[in-house]
Amino acid sequence: MGLGREWAIDWVRRSAATLAEHRVELIHLDRDIGDGDHGENMDRGFQAALGKLDGVADDASPADVLKLVATTLISTVGGAAGPLYGTAYLKGSMAVKDASSLDGGAVASFLGAACDGVVARGKAEAGDKTMIDAWLPAVEAAREAASSGADASAVLTAAADAAERGAVATEPLVARKGRASYLGERSAGHRDPGAQSSAYLLRAAAEAAAGAGEAA
Ligand code: ADP
Ligand code: MG
Repeated sequence: MGLGREWAIDWVRRSAATLAEHRVELIHLDRDIGDGDHGENMDRGFQAALGKLDGVADDASPADVLKLVATTLISTVGGAAGPLYGTAYLKGSMAVKDASSLDGGAVASFLGAACDGVVARGKAEAGDKTMIDAWLPAVEAAREAASSGADASAVLTAAADAAERGAVATEPLVARKGRASYLGERSAGHRDPGAQSSAYLLRAAAEAAAGAGEAA
């Protein structure tokens, strides 16, 4: 089953809920290797996105909702993560802009374009201990699932599983981008906050898709 407007709205709702739930944990992760604002930034951004959902048109596409998230994050999140996530949702939405409903292949395209957007903006490479270390394996898993015929919900579950593993795998890495890179070797032994928030967001997307399937 394809994912439409309701899925995108539910993704935003679940994102806001999971980031509120994990706000303090993300603050602590960012306090260890950064300035401690990541949980606050992300919670503020997604609460703002939540507040805009009432204005979503009845005939909106998933891309319309995701673009609204992008512009909201860019104007409310701040820090490094605001423009990076904003670019992710913007580029992702552009990749699926003509679809009223997303199948597995479209979900993989969305994730691939979102990840490419973060890379273009932040210039991080695999292993630099950034959110990219969650996104790159997520995109790879999504493409693999989609090419073997998985539906949109299964593609998102594969992406979320891979992003969680990717976030855990940032722990031993030495940061080479962002604020954490100022710590050099001392950044090793801590999980990257942006990789962890990315994993929460992709899990929220997968749960919204599973919910959409149950409702159908
Ligand atoms: P700031 O570092 O400005 O305080 P946040 O704390 O909100 O911003 O976000 C920090 C997160 O942003 C990091 O954990 C990392 O995942 C991500 N990040 C920082 N710089 C980059 C970059 N150049 N490319 C990709 N992700 C980055
Ligand atoms: Mg920070």
